[in-house]
Amino acid sequence: MSEQTPKLSNCPFCNSKAEILYKDAPSNIIQCSQEHGRCPVEPVVGNYDTFEQCAEIWNSRPIEAQLQAENARLRDALEYVDSKAYMLQSMGIEPRVEYEVEKIRRTIKTSLQHNEAL
Ligand SMILES: [Zn+2]
Repeated sequence: MSEQTPKLSNCPFCNSKAEILYKDAPSNIIQCSQEHGRCPVEPVVGNYDTFEQCAEIWNSRPIEAQLQAENARLRDALEYVDSKAYMLQSMGIEPRVEYEVEKIRRTIKTSLQHNEAL
């Protein structure tokens, strides 16, 4: 039987590696290894029936997942605006409209860059 150990994310508070304190016996406990010095939060996840459940909880990052979903929506919006801008340019649009489209592009791009810097 070859069960794969799930990949563990780094600590969300100090970016240290995760440390497996116990696997299967006597329990399942994952904590911050504090490899970068003392962690400000020292998170510990444990007391789950299986190591996989414990790892899933350790790896859950709901705010990061929301941010990634928002970035995906912004990339889609940017791609859409780019494709429409290209189409409008080929039709010979007025400079005023082109200016407004560029403003929309810049707004989306700035939001995306801001989010990616977080
Ligand atoms: Zn930590």
